[in-house]
Amino acid sequence: MHYNQFGVDLCSSQQQNTTDKSYLQSNNSWTVADSAKLYNVEGWGEPYFGINKAGNVTVSPQGKDRAIDLLELIEVLPERNLKPPLLIRFPDILGDRLARLHECMERAISRYSYGGQYRGVFPIKCNQNRHIVEAVVHYGEAYQFGLEAGSKPELIIALASLTSQTDRLLLCNGYKDREYIETALLATKLGHQPIIIIEQLQELALVMAIASELNIEPILGVRAKLDTKGIGRWGDSTGDRAKFGLSVGEILQVVQRLKEIDKLDCLQLLHFHIGSQISAIKVIKNAIREASQIYVQLVKLGVNMQYLDVGGGLAVDYDGSKTNFKASKNYNMQNYANDIVAQVKDACERAEVSVPTLVSESGRAIAAHQSLLVFNVLGTSTKLSLDVCSLKADAPLILRNFWSTYQEIEPTNLQESYHDAIGFKQEALSLFNLGYLSLSDRALAEELYWACCHKISVMLESCEDIPEDLSNLSEIMAATYYINLSIFQSVPDAWAIEQLFPILPLHHLDRKPTARGILADITCDSDGKIDRFINRKETKNILELHSLDDVSSPYYLGMFLVGSYQEIMGNLHNLFGETNVVEVKVTSSGYRIESAIEGDNVAQVLEQVKYDSQDLLATMNRRTEAALQNQNITLSEAQKLWQNFVTTFDSYTYLS
Ligand code: PLP
Repeated sequence: MHYNQFGVDLCSSQQQNTTDKSYLQSNNSWTVADSAKLYNVEGWGEPYFGINKAGNVTVSPQGKDRAIDLLELIEVLPERNLKPPLLIRFPDILGDRLARLHECMERAISRYSYGGQYRGVFPIKCNQNRHIVEAVVHYGEAYQFGLEAGSKPELIIALASLTSQTDRLLLCNGYKDREYIETALLATKLGHQPIIIIEQLQELALVMAIASELNIEPILGVRAKLDTKGIGRWGDSTGDRAKFGLSVGEILQVVQRLKEIDKLDCLQLLHFHIGSQISAIKVIKNAIREASQIYVQLVKLGVNMQYLDVGGGLAVDYDGSKTNFKASKNYNMQNYANDIVAQVKDACERAEVSVPTLVSESGRAIAAHQSLLVFNVLGTSTKLSLDVCSLKADAPLILRNFWSTYQEIEPTNLQESYHDAIGFKQEALSLFNLGYLSLSDRALAEELYWACCHKISVMLESCEDIPEDLSNLSEIMAATYYINLSIFQSVPDAWAIEQLFPILPLHHLDRKPTARGILADITCDSDGKIDRFINRKETKNILELHSLDDVSSPYYLGMFLVGSYQEIMGNLHNLFGETNVVEVKVTSSGYRIESAIEGDNVAQVLEQVKYDSQDLLATMNRRTEAALQNQNITLSEAQKLWQNFVTTFDSYTYLS
């Protein structure tokens, strides 16, 4: 029975629901094109990601005529024991990124009649995973793509990955001790081409001493601390206070010392790196202009310069806005290549020196697109009822007034109704605190408040001008979607530096996503959430999602462009381990699963924090036996507990 404020039966439950929901817009006109626009798939996803007619996200690692339906893929993977959360890598995309970069540089070289070559190297730090490095080596063969190492383990990876007797470059960056330098120098005997890049002045003496002991003529580079500053989160990689690199004065000292020992010919490369994700082309231009001048001046000083290494920094358009916002970039790969080639050529021509071989160390732009993270939604936080259908005739006056406010909401009184709802809610709370309202009355007041907000926010969707005081209503209304994932393990930059990644449902995209949500992971950490999302302008605080009532279960979301830096920087917070990983390659008839690697199980993460599963089992066994003897547990309970211990050690760390 439903009553108005005078206690009169209003309508049947069925009728009431229909009446109340009449303000909801029809979803019938929603198409996949609307979803593509909403999530700006074309902006960040071209040419690899799209949405098919069925409303599922597709991946096209080798052109649009061979699109893989992601939902179909995800649904066959559990047969191989690969359940979400899941990292899917598409090595063909990695190959395509390498080819594109090389082709852009080649095009620029031919456009500007540049008399030198381009040699790309992949910075291993971007993703040290064996499959990634091996894929870079494989796809990079045609372009003589080399590797950059920034530590001893990365040097070992590089040496093992690059076939010797090759023209591929091996750049040795980072802090170096005797072992690092010796290994790099001796690698020349295996046919490698290591270039040892001096990042700190004191390294020079050590390198030259070891080279002399080994009787090996080293090829050296210097990393310059440019005055041009990068921008955004990684902008500190250059300038006076940069951690790495030599000032111009220090570079001159290197030249002087090498001259003194008659080894000036060893210095052949000038390197700079002004930070990752440089979103403004102007900054790149300035850096190249400055570095080109240093280069030509070194040549004029008689240094045997051969290479100019422009480092990393080539950005990824994570939000697809094509702006200089930090999650985007206001240039494309071809602009980047053109600027490098044109500026270096111009500086060399004016100084009448030969142009160098151009080297770049792009990591992010090569590796980001090839990986995507798939995870399922476990549930949502329930805001109290979004439609209130009943009120008792003898309800307190405040609730009856609140109820009629709710009923009377219409497009012409949205602002007024919202303020009334806030007022009623506050008043109800005061009355409750003074003992005049019961617990259930207070609950009903809260329900009415959410119902008003919901009704207003739905009506607002068809308003052209949203009043300022109602502008954050959809944020207030946003539900929390609990996702089967650890942000700390799988996308640590989303937590550590608030990096943005495109996120969207992987299916149901032919239906309007009528809910609004933020994402909360399964770690017991309030930071384990995502509440900033890509937008065409700046960011938004909520993501458009489907209501779980409207979609099939499980509801899958995807986080895209996660192939750079995330895998290696992930941590074991709350002991959620590495996720399952699958590598998928395109074939003429569809795709094939190239490799599947099961994520960490519980025993493996425990081992990483130095627990031995056998010891743990023995301890738990002893305790259970003692409890049995003391009759604190029955035999069947003990068996169940024992069984759970054994299966838990073997199970995935995420929720099944
Ligand atoms: N080179 C050096 C020396 C770096 O430190 C980095 C990473 O910051 C890179 C290359 C790769 O940069 P990016 O991933 O922006 O291409």
